[in-house]
Amino acid sequence: MEKIRMTIPLVEMDGDEMTHILWHIIKEKLILPFVDLKTEYYDLSLLNRNATEDRVTVEAGKAALKHGVAVKCATITPNKKRMEEYPQLTKMWPSPNATIRSIMGGTIFRTPISVDFVEPAVRSWQKPITIARHAFGDIYKASDFLTDEPGECELIFHGESGAEKRITVQKVKGKAVWMGQFNLDDSIRNFAKACFRYAVDTRQDLWFSAKDTISKIYDGHFRSVFEEEYEAYRQDFERLQIYYFYTLIDDAVARVMRSKGGFIWACKNYDGDVMSDMVSSAFSSIAMMTSVLVTPDGKYEFEAAHGTVTKHYYRYLRGEKTSTNPVATIFAWSGALRKRGELDGLTDLVSFANALERACRHTLNSGKMTGDLAAMAKEGMNVTVLNSEDFIEAISEKLKEDSESGFVL
Ligand code: NAP
Ligand code: MG
Repeated sequence: MEKIRMTIPLVEMDGDEMTHILWHIIKEKLILPFVDLKTEYYDLSLLNRNATEDRVTVEAGKAALKHGVAVKCATITPNKKRMEEYPQLTKMWPSPNATIRSIMGGTIFRTPISVDFVEPAVRSWQKPITIARHAFGDIYKASDFLTDEPGECELIFHGESGAEKRITVQKVKGKAVWMGQFNLDDSIRNFAKACFRYAVDTRQDLWFSAKDTISKIYDGHFRSVFEEEYEAYRQDFERLQIYYFYTLIDDAVARVMRSKGGFIWACKNYDGDVMSDMVSSAFSSIAMMTSVLVTPDGKYEFEAAHGTVTKHYYRYLRGEKTSTNPVATIFAWSGALRKRGELDGLTDLVSFANALERACRHTLNSGKMTGDLAAMAKEGMNVTVLNSEDFIEAISEKLKEDSESGFVL
């Protein structure tokens, strides 16, 4: 079979530890035999970030903006313990994800990869629920303090024009806690745009929830911005017969629990922080969660939501075969290849990406899986626990079969 051609390169961001090991097995076994892979390669491993004084991360982020689609391996964010582990580090380099996000902007969408044999903890959920978290501002950039005497607190805004806005927050008779928080109209608007764009991209309904009955101006503004931005997407939504709707966060939580899934739930910063952990753990595990950063103007960075799986890496270094789940990393590759195919009009690349995901699901549904999933499989299922390499090999066998029909179903 002739390999599938690409025109524009994917921005490939390699990473650390166990995910770095899997990265290369995935490429060798699942992609290179079928695709004439074009990538612009950036080595974001901790030691290379150190050697380049983190310039490599900035360059990778800029390349993602230039080419429009990136795929990223998990990377170590150094902390005090890592500084001891890697004494050659000259600095506690920042999180690559934070650096890339500050260059690209955009919103992160996290989606569980559902498989038939793992029953979600919520019985009604038949399809994955994607959480979009507005990861900027509110209590995460708030200023707060404690006071311990009677008094009065005011909120004052000094405009550059000299204009001033001032309100009394509260008069108190004793000890009290206070907080001032903010968000930016631009940031909310970009969040809304990324959500509408991703809903159209993935043909799913979009829910947005906040608390505008109580927070009439603050959350009310979020709601209005979403309504305004929706106008630019209304026609697309109508054409695809997907729906946007706003509801109170309490109502959203109740509806989510009774829903069948299969939609995007856009959340304010704190709600998204809390709800994403609930939704992901109710579906299966962090090892089965994908993450994609989408900018308002349609640039994408795909990755697995989990980290570098350090404990498994140390077992691997001792020569043990580990049963580390590669599925989310494989889906980062399939997501990126599919998007490249869609943007460049390469239908066979899109078919390949779909076939790669089908091969993963087929292998899992046939009972071949890694240890983390075996623990979650339905009772009575005939499960074979494989190490990562054998599991990837099994997926590759299925792909080879599908390649005979040109990956078309
Ligand atoms: P982690 O790598 O996600 O692993 C935590 C635990 O979750 C593992 O020990 C393992 O449990 C389980 N697990 C996660 N992914 C798995 C997989 N694919 N297959 C099987 N089990 C899996 O999180 P961490 O240990 O907190 O962080 C390790 C490093 O990753 C840190 O240096 C952190 O900075 C980095 N990190 C990077 C990213 C990113 O680049 N996006 C995200 C998060 C963390 P068992 O040991 O019980 O098997
Ligand atoms: Mg959290």
